Amino acid sequence: MNPIETVRFSCPWCGEPAETVVDCTTGDQEYVEDCWCCCRPVVIRVELDAGGELAVAVWAEGA
Ligand SMILES: [Zn+2]
Repeated sequence: MNPIETVRFSCPWCGEPAETVVDCTTGDQEYVEDCWCCCRPVVIRVELDAGGELAVAVWAEGA
């Protein structure tokens, strides 16, 4: 697995495809990024499972 992974998701607000870069060396993390398209806040939660696979959940902040 690469230490830096690119994760693709659809914006929960506008549905546009977006992507974020995850630093896998920091373990589980949760952060907010503004959508590049609609500029609304998107919460991105990244978890690493025991096999080192990324599990990503995305939802609209405040929704
Ligand atoms: Zn959006």
